Amino acid sequence: MKLFVAVDLEGICGVVSEADTAREGAAAQRARAHMRADLDAVLEGCAAAGATEVVVCDSHDDGRNLDLAGLPGFVSLVSGSPAPGSMLEGLAPDCDAALLVGYHARAGTAGAVLEHTWDYLTFSVRVGDLEVGEFGIAALLAGELGVPAVYVSGDDKVAAEARALVPGITATVVKTGIRREAAALCAPAEARERIARDVRAALTGEHRPAPLVWNGRPLRLTFTRAIYCDLAETCPGAVRLDGRTLEIGGETFADLYRGFLTCLRLAESQA
Ligand SMILES: [Zn+2]
Repeated sequence: MKLFVAVDLEGICGVVSEADTAREGAAAQRARAHMRADLDAVLEGCAAAGATEVVVCDSHDDGRNLDLAGLPGFVSLVSGSPAPGSMLEGLAPDCDAALLVGYHARAGTAGAVLEHTWDYLTFSVRVGDLEVGEFGIAALLAGELGVPAVYVSGDDKVAAEARALVPGITATVVKTGIRREAAALCAPAEARERIARDVRAALTGEHRPAPLVWNGRPLRLTFTRAIYCDLAETCPGAVRLDGRTLEIGGETFADLYRGFLTCLRLAESQA
C-alpha cells in the first residue's frame, strides 16, 4: 500500500498564532517540532495499517519545515520549493489514499484557526458553486487521479469542511477554534494517540470514502485586492470577471490547479 501524506502547519497540534507559522523564532521552532511529532503519529498509524511506501510532502510555506532525521525507511520526504505540484507534489495515481495532516479551514471561515486558502491574497476559491479551500483542492486533485482523501487532521472547522465534501472521511480534531488566533488545544500525548489510532482506522476500515469527482466547472479565484488580479490576469486561460475575480477553465481539474497556482505566483510576484 502506497500513501500520499501532505503536512501543513496551521492545523498541527499546538499551533495557534501566526508567530507559530513564521519562518524564524522560538515559537516557529516549537511549532515545527509539533509538526514532526504529528507526522510521526500519522506514520505509526500508516505502518500499523500495512503501508509499504509513504510519500510525505512538506507542504507549508517553503517546504523546509520537517526534520528528515529518524524518519522510517518506508518514507520519502518531498522538501523545498517551488515544486510544480506546490503543496501536493508527490501525489500520483499509484497512491492508494491521500492523508491531509495539519490542515486548516478555507479563507473566511468563522472561528477557524489561521484560516486561509494557499496565501493571504486569496479571498475565496469556487469550483462552480462549490466553495473550496486547501482541503477541497487537494481532495479534487487526488480524486481525479482516482485517489480517495481518507484522512484529515486539524481544528474542528477543517474537520467539518472535510466531512461536508467527503462524507465518511476520518478526521482527528486536535484543537477547537475559538477565534482566528485563539483555540482550545488538545494535550500533545492525547492528540497523537488519537492521530495514530484514527489513521490506522481510516486505512483499514471497510467503508473508505470514494475519490471526490470534479463537477467539470471552471475555478473562480477571488483575490482580496484588485491589484492581485491586475498582476495575474495575463495567465493563459484566465478570464477576468470583475475587479478581484479571475475565472480559470480547463479540460481537467489538474489544468485548473495549474492555472490557480500560476495566478497566485503572478499575484505574489509584487505582493
Ligand atoms: Zn495551508
